[in-house]
Amino acid sequence: MELDVLGCGGGIGTGERTTAFRVNGRLLIDAGTGVEALTLADMEAIEAIVVTHTHLDHTAYLAYLADSLHGRIQRTIPVYGRSETLQGLRDHLFNGVLWPDFTRLPPERPVFSLEPLEPGESRTIAGLEVRAIGVNHVVPTQGYWVDDGERAFAFSGDTTTNGGLWEALNARPRLDALLVEAAFADEDAGLCELARHYCPRLLAADMAALEHHPPVYISHRKPGDEDRILAECRAALPDRTVHGLSSGTRLTL
Ligand SMILES: [Zn+2]
Ligand SMILES: [Zn+2]
Repeated sequence: MELDVLGCGGGIGTGERTTAFRVNGRLLIDAGTGVEALTLADMEAIEAIVVTHTHLDHTAYLAYLADSLHGRIQRTIPVYGRSETLQGLRDHLFNGVLWPDFTRLPPERPVFSLEPLEPGESRTIAGLEVRAIGVNHVVPTQGYWVDDGERAFAFSGDTTTNGGLWEALNARPRLDALLVEAAFADEDAGLCELARHYCPRLLAADMAALEHHPPVYISHRKPGDEDRILAECRAALPDRTVHGLSSGTRLTL
């Protein structure tokens, strides 16, 4: 399985792009500014998209993706997410005000269809088993466990302390890579509580429950604080292999 990190930053300004992953060239997970790394041919090859939640750093480039693909593909691309997320996209992005409604345009074959995939459900998408796992963020959010039958990875989405993610991952047969957020340094624990993100200390406390021992890749680090957050994660997780995730890298599982 090939996992392209198109974007994984907590913001822009330090050369990072915001969250978007591509799996095997066919599946897009989230559509933040990382989508900008794709060529037209890359975009045409996308078969399906799954989104973790509505926040713009994960969805803004659905708008530009639709615009670029409009008139170029002869099929509709399903966009999967929990029903609250899809309703949010309908109400606030594809509403004819902020952007044209590409779930209805072009009329004969819309670019996107919105397909509910709720926490706890699993579906075969672009040849992969994709399982949604509810997490704890300021808006309804879910992470994903993605399995090709031989190897699997999980992506937390945006979340703070929660038991459900770790319990759900323990129930899966394998986990070969874990992509998990740590948005802020320990010093900003108050902000983590307000915005419902992990800081290294909270992440380490939760991760003690994880029975798998995959390499851990830290995403969504606040711009300018990337090194400090990674160092704190390494110190807090001495028994884990911890890497900083950067936009533009490819993980081969
Ligand atoms: Zn968010
Ligand atoms: Zn985010």
